[in-house]
Amino acid sequence: MKDILDVHVHTTASIHAYSTFGECVAAARKKNLELVGFADHAPSVPGSIHPFYFLNFKVIPRELDGIKIAMGAELNIIDFSGSTDLPAQILKKIDYAIASLHKECIEPGSVEENTAALLGAMRNPHVAIIGHPDNPQFPADLEKIARAAKDNHVLLEVNNSSYLPTGHRAGSADNAKIMLAACKKYGTKIIIGSDAHIAQDVGNHELSQKILAENNFPAELVINSSVEKFFECVSYRKSLAPKGA
Ligand SMILES: [Zn+2]
Ligand SMILES: [Zn+2]
Repeated sequence: MKDILDVHVHTTASIHAYSTFGECVAAARKKNLELVGFADHAPSVPGSIHPFYFLNFKVIPRELDGIKIAMGAELNIIDFSGSTDLPAQILKKIDYAIASLHKECIEPGSVEENTAALLGAMRNPHVAIIGHPDNPQFPADLEKIARAAKDNHVLLEVNNSSYLPTGHRAGSADNAKIMLAACKKYGTKIIIGSDAHIAQDVGNHELSQKILAENNFPAELVINSSVEKFFECVSYRKSLAPKGA
């Protein structure tokens, strides 16, 4: 399966990640990616960045030595209505956003509450991707999530770090099966992300690819094959934002 982009990369700006922007770009180039996207944690994660960080992305070239660069954020969903921790005034200025549930930022709720949180985040036009929706720490109705993602043109992430034996989200692979079956049923698009917290992991999609193969997931629903398709998705979502918001 053609896989030339990774838009879930963390740098030292996230504090609990260990490589610089430059090291991650170099790693992406080494892996022959066409696009690398930076999604450092929004402010609610302990030790993460001040909102001002996200307002100076204009200094970063969007192409460096032949590799395209996108500058985004991984937002934290902070309540069960799906609110996130950066305001629209900032989100409209960055290239894209992933929205995720993290237990450092919200206590897991019931299936209904977690599902409502993810559905609420999908109503935010600045959110293009739901990060690791198959995380068992936040059990959700993945059938509903897949259907809403299709209806709202939101991408569901198949997060490589979730499936690592050393990872924090044990059991994600079992949930991924349920999520991918629902995505196949509704024609929901997915995106693989490394969730790299060190340069060596940029573009590492091995476990996600394995899960997709095991579940006979159709290649046409995987956005990683095309930089254009990724930006089309982001632009469509942003086009839903009210003018001036
Ligand atoms: Zn995350
Ligand atoms: Zn992440």
